[in-house]
Amino acid sequence: MKPQKSVSVIPLGGVGEIGKNMWVVDSGEDIIALDCGVMFPENEMLGVDLVIPDVSYLLENRSRVRAIVLSHGHEDHIGALPYVLRQLNVPVYGTRLTLGLVKGKLEEHGLLREADLREIRAGERIALGGFKLDFIHVNHSIADVVAIAVHTHAGTILYATDFKFDQTPIDGRITDLQKLAELGQNGVLLLLSDSTNAERPGYTHSERTVGELFMETFRRAKGRIFVATFASNIYRIQQVIDSAMAVGRRVCVIGRSMVNNVSIAVDLGYLRLPEGIMLDLDELPRCAPDEVVILTTGSQGEPMSALSRMAMAEHRRIEIQPGDTVIISANPIPGNERLVGKTIDHLFRQGADVIYHAFSGVHVSGHASQEELKLMLNLVRPRYFIPIHGEYRMMVRHAALAEAVGIPRDRIILADIGDEIEVGPEVFRRARKVEAGPVLVDGLGVGDVGNIVLRDRQQLSQDGILIVVVTINRQTGQVVAGPDIVSRGFVYVRESEALMEEARSRVRVALNGCLEQHITEWNAIKAEVKEALSQLLWERTKRRPMILPIVMEI
Ligand SMILES: [Zn+2]
Ligand SMILES: [Zn+2]
Repeated sequence: MKPQKSVSVIPLGGVGEIGKNMWVVDSGEDIIALDCGVMFPENEMLGVDLVIPDVSYLLENRSRVRAIVLSHGHEDHIGALPYVLRQLNVPVYGTRLTLGLVKGKLEEHGLLREADLREIRAGERIALGGFKLDFIHVNHSIADVVAIAVHTHAGTILYATDFKFDQTPIDGRITDLQKLAELGQNGVLLLLSDSTNAERPGYTHSERTVGELFMETFRRAKGRIFVATFASNIYRIQQVIDSAMAVGRRVCVIGRSMVNNVSIAVDLGYLRLPEGIMLDLDELPRCAPDEVVILTTGSQGEPMSALSRMAMAEHRRIEIQPGDTVIISANPIPGNERLVGKTIDHLFRQGADVIYHAFSGVHVSGHASQEELKLMLNLVRPRYFIPIHGEYRMMVRHAALAEAVGIPRDRIILADIGDEIEVGPEVFRRARKVEAGPVLVDGLGVGDVGNIVLRDRQQLSQDGILIVVVTINRQTGQVVAGPDIVSRGFVYVRESEALMEEARSRVRVALNGCLEQHITEWNAIKAEVKEALSQLLWERTKRRPMILPIVMEI
């Protein structure tokens, strides 16, 4: 029996991982989804472009889904929208900048016209079905971020994903402490809070400290200055522009996403460009080195980005020269460390002075550290707590912080993707599992690459493939042509004639065996051929290429 006063919350992504954040709040009558993010594939997901959440639960209950509500415009919160809206076209709520970024994305997918985008602002209250929602301004590494308070018949659920407490933010708007305290005063049933930096002691530095370092570096630099950062970090970009202005340099923006985001941010008034500060790429060759700052993407070592092409001396327009200073104003996202390291190596080889790593002060995180996480817990004083937005170990650390400020262990749940968690004044438990998990996107295919395809790709990438083609007379079962063997990624056939000849003869023996035992079923013949070959190849090479027998009949 479901207690009268309860609602369900379900993570469809973003717990036990960083990426594809999406939560469902279900009152029994109304459903809303909070965020709709992507994740970038792990190394073993060969050829996969993106990973999105499985939204089966929303599709099964589509008539009750009132909206998707967005916290902010980062990819891990909005990136899956084009894929989800295609199946479930519900209203999407977000702040002005968030929707600005969403529009660009939907436009690319040809979905903008049908989309129902509704702007909200921090401090506002809206009603969605039986829910009332409050939006609370918070600091982060992009502008216009909100925490979302969902008032339900069972109590208030506060979704505080990506935030920090910055006392001196670039836009002067600090996290709305009063509103958080007020929510806490009125009683918060459940807090969902950002675990990204739960392992990091102390406080996260203010974004402004980065600007101070930019100023110092810009003053010292004699040659050209390059700054690579996230295209979405408008505050960081603003500080690059302001520092350039202060030392009398002009700024040239390079890289598609950087150019796009700068123009969106300028249009919407989130970025202030002093008169004449921008420099066109065409004018760059005519400028002295100490007159320019080049703002670019590629802080994650992405192989196709402007910065890594410059580092590899493959950029069409710009060559790195001795005397250049390159600032990498970002930390590698876990998994990107090697790519970033390589880019830095190449930049040094080209003669640039490279400034990187958080300890150099050229980057600060957009996420709250331990003391700030405790502050959030203490302001909000939730009855129950679920750490979100983090790898499992970060969630464990965050749970320990919650215990430290006095939340009993039995009021904390470490959720897995797909857990339906029932929550009300008298109940807090895992009720059941709903269908959920990763959906892989490869090119135009969504969900058509699954475990079997991935296993094949892994096998292909490890030992290659061997294709055996043989033609058989349908009546007699005799081999009329072949066996012919083609291989890719296994051995170079021309230099392995002896092995190939041996392979062909094994195949002949296997086929004759089939003939003698009157095996005529194709699959059985193929299995025999495969077995004979894989045994031989393992003996001779200790490799297991994929073997693909093709039997043709005439
Ligand atoms: Zn974020
Ligand atoms: Zn995030």
